[in-house]
Amino acid sequence: MRTQPAPDRRVWRNWAGTATATPARWSRPRSEAEISAAVKDAAAAGLTVRALGSGHSFTAAAATSGVALDLSGWTGVTAADTGTGLVIARSGTTLRALNAELAGLGLAMANLGDIDVQTLAGALSTGTHGTGARLGGLATQVEALELVLADGSVTTCSASSRPELFSAARVGLGALGVISTVTLRCVPSFTLLADERPVPVDEVLEQFDELAAANDHFEFYWFPYGRQALVKRNNRLAGPDRAPGTRVPPALPAWRRFWEFEVMENAGFGALCRLGRARPRLIPALNRFSSAALSARTYTDASYRVFVTPRRVRFAESEYAVPRESLGHVIAELRRAVPRLADPVMFPVEVRVAAADDIWLSTGYGRESAYVAIHQYTGLPYQAYFDRFEAIVAEVAGRPHWGKLHSLDAGRLRSLYPRFDDFRRARAEVDPEGRFGNAYLARVLGSHDL
Ligand SMILES: Cc1cc2nc3c(=O)[nH]c(=O)nc-3n(C[C@H](O)[C@H](O)[C@H](O)COP(=O)(O)OP(=O)(O)OC[C@H]3O[C@@H](n4cnc5c(N)ncnc54)[C@H](O)[C@@H]3O)c2cc1C
Repeated sequence: MRTQPAPDRRVWRNWAGTATATPARWSRPRSEAEISAAVKDAAAAGLTVRALGSGHSFTAAAATSGVALDLSGWTGVTAADTGTGLVIARSGTTLRALNAELAGLGLAMANLGDIDVQTLAGALSTGTHGTGARLGGLATQVEALELVLADGSVTTCSASSRPELFSAARVGLGALGVISTVTLRCVPSFTLLADERPVPVDEVLEQFDELAAANDHFEFYWFPYGRQALVKRNNRLAGPDRAPGTRVPPALPAWRRFWEFEVMENAGFGALCRLGRARPRLIPALNRFSSAALSARTYTDASYRVFVTPRRVRFAESEYAVPRESLGHVIAELRRAVPRLADPVMFPVEVRVAAADDIWLSTGYGRESAYVAIHQYTGLPYQAYFDRFEAIVAEVAGRPHWGKLHSLDAGRLRSLYPRFDDFRRARAEVDPEGRFGNAYLARVLGSHDL
């Protein structure tokens, strides 16, 4: 008699430790046919399905009590046209692996976020973005998507084929199907000149629009008890067009990269955070110390090495996109709110910018955005801080990052996204039974019935 294999009751946990789940089943497909078979098997067993990325969402976006689809065996670039820059990659490819493959082809993503450990599909599905007033989030770099739908069939969508599905699925929250492959519009490899320096935060706010307009990629960090911000400006080197005699700083030598990124920004900052967690009363002083210790550096490197930094100190995060013109109000309110919190804040606030886009559930839909991200060190209380932040950004119609902590539900989100019900209709059409549902989607998209 054949014995049944013991059910796999492994626990799924996200990077931040803010979400866990116990899937009924795990599946690790290695081909599109296997993804399709896993979806059909789930349907036959009456189970829901969620594709897993790298677990770097702070929300329970990927959590499932049904079938967890681990796509770590479905990776790599399958086609590339170096003339047009169009590249097809499998959905489980991490951004790190993708960047390396693209570099080998003389190509690059036009913009990236802060880290590269996410999977391509996971990053797209929650609206992951970097910074740059003339650039949208990662999803704006997508030319076409191939999706495995709830009935196991495979469909392709793009601006010319099933355009409504394309408008929904580029930032699709995993609600429409399993992304199988992504066609990206890449650009030729480029070098960035990175300039980072402390500037008084009031000055940054006064010059915010000019800084956003004058730099390809502009952002700033601000420790909420300090007066200084760390302003980061990353600009493309013009290559051969550069004026003769222009001094170009070199790449950081390996030892300095290690010292600054690993020792100072991870190990050193991590030690300060642990001290703050053990003695919370010291936090405002530690925070001011971190602010005063900010220093300048200028270097050049391949774009993806400048965009991305290692993040080893764990934290909880919330981030909202607000209309660009309301940033000053949001920062002023945060500045008033943080010193009044019962539990002090250890981590900096990060501010970035993005262009408007036309993707239905993109935080940048139809408006130029400033992104305000707040963080708290793991193990320190954050709820009152995040609640206060939500109340502030609610005044200016802030839209939450789908992968970062927030408490909004479908009722509120409908008022923030003009195409919200179009998204729900597109979902009802391709997934009438809610095969790809989970508790997070039930909250943010509402009941499956229209
Ligand atoms: C340290 C850190 C730094 C970060 N920096 C940034 C940043 O700079 N900018 C920014 O915008 N965000 C940032 N984020 C957030 C992060 O980019 C997003 O949460 C992203 O979704 C994580 O990707 P992932 O691969 O871990 O996906 P997961 O979190 O595992 O999944 C996210 C969603 O994608 C769905 N999904 C995954 N694969 C597929 C698929 N094949 N088909 C359909 N749906 C799928 C999942 O079901 C889930 O709903 C950061 C997060 C962390 C922890």
